[in-house]
Order: sequence, then structure tokens, then C-alpha cells
Amino acid sequence: MASGKVKVGFYSLTGCAGDLLNILGMEDKLVEIFGNIDLMEFVMASSRVKPGKVDIAFVEGSVTTKKDLETIKRIRENCSKLVAIGDCAIWGGLQASLTGLDPKELMKAVYNTEENYYEFLGEHKALSEIVQVDYELPGCPIEQDEFLQLLIDLLRDVIPEFKDYPVCVECKIREIPCLIVEKGEACLGPITVGGCKARCPYYEAPCISCRGPIKDEANVAGELLMLLEKGWKEQDVVDKLRLFAARYKDISKLIRRV
Ligand code: SF4
Ligand code: SF4
Repeated sequence: MASGKVKVGFYSLTGCAGDLLNILGMEDKLVEIFGNIDLMEFVMASSRVKPGKVDIAFVEGSVTTKKDLETIKRIRENCSKLVAIGDCAIWGGLQASLTGLDPKELMKAVYNTEENYYEFLGEHKALSEIVQVDYELPGCPIEQDEFLQLLIDLLRDVIPEFKDYPVCVECKIREIPCLIVEKGEACLGPITVGGCKARCPYYEAPCISCRGPIKDEANVAGELLMLLEKGWKEQDVVDKLRLFAARYKDISKLIRRV
């Protein structure tokens, strides 16, 4: 580290670029953030790309094209820690809910051509399905305060902590009446990882799980049964669950069962 600073790169695969935009949206903190790291690559912020290995690579987007596949392997080979940011990188994102549809039909619907112009792989994979991922920061997009805390922890060489409780906990903290219990709504708060401060239930909108399931903790079957008891159809619930996290293995199991 010639500068004595930690070398950091920000990278984007297939997605809407919302996570990197959210980082760029921290105008009041950007000078401080960029001043404390050696910024190696962040194409959305600067066309200057420094060659060489990085200490921390933040990667958003899913592995959807041949180029994504080559890029994520190159990033992994050239970084010490790889951090997946956002649901596309962690769960395949919204685009993964289209898995199984004919790529030619998708190209036709969007670009009016059947040519596989982007060298689409036919699936939208999470980073962890391709390479080793060290940390995952959920969200669609990520929360700015969570990113800042994660960056500070990594720069200080502290092992970061991630939320391991559901959105329901944040409902209770804010004393929001439960939408399932009080109104019979299909709220996905019980299986969704907290961190958004129950943003949607606060406005009486059910959680659609934009932060994805609580990894290794979510009781998807329990949530499913609870919603069925409230009169929801199984396929509707499964469709809701796979909207942001289609690559989540428990959801795949449920989908196969339907
Ligand atoms: S409204 Fe949703 S998130 Fe809030 S407590 Fe009820 S189920 Fe949980
Ligand atoms: S959909 Fe759920 S996780 Fe996403 S912001 Fe709303 S309450 Fe939070």
C-alpha cells in the first residue's frame, strides 16, 4: 500500500446500479469516504481506473452475462475481501425471478430481437454461486448507514456484524400495528432481514421483502402456512417470496413443491 491507505474498488454487474448510486448519493460523506481509502476503481464516480490488486472489492449486480462471469472471476482473483452489496449480488435480484423463461422471448420482448446480444447465460446467479464471498450487505438498494458502518469496520479491520432479526422487530420498536394480525395482509416481515426500520409497515404497506430473507434463519414454511390461513393462495405467496430472492434455496424448495 504505497499510500498507506486501504485499496478499495467498486464494481457493477447486471442490475440497476442502485447500490452504487446510493453510495454516490451520500454527498455529505463522500469526500471523507474517498479521502480515507485508495480508490482503485469506481467507474460511476470516476473514469480513472488504477491497475493492480485491491484489498476490498464491493460488487453489485447478478452474474447474468458471459462478461459478468469473466468479471467476477477476475475481481475475485484480484481482491483480498469480496463484499456482495444488494439483493442482485446476494440473491440474483429481481431479474432472477425470470429464471426459466426463454431468453429469446425475453430479448424479443425488451429489444425486439432474438439475438443473444448480451451473451446472456440463461440464469441470473448470485455471486456466492460462482465465487467465494466474504460478506453480504442486503437491500434493494442497500441502506446508506449500513454501508458506512460496514466500510468503517472493514477499514479498522473489525469483523462486521449484520442484522439477524426480522423486520417485525423494528415494527415492535416503532409500535406499528401488525399488518398480518390486524389486517390479514400478506406481510413478509417475519422472514425478511431487518435494517430498514420497518419503512413500509410504518406507512401501512406490507413488507415485500426487498431486503431478502434472513439467511439460515427464515422460517419460510411457517410464513407460508400463516398466510395460507389468512386466505392467500400458495402461488401468490411463492411469487411474492421469489420476487427479490429467487435464488434462496428454501424458496426454490417451495416452488418445486407447488
Ligand atoms: S406488520 Fe409485517 S413486519 Fe410488522 S410486525 Fe406485522 S408481520 Fe411483522
Ligand atoms: S419491503 Fe420490507 S424490507 Fe423492504 S423497505 Fe419495505 S419493510 Fe423494509
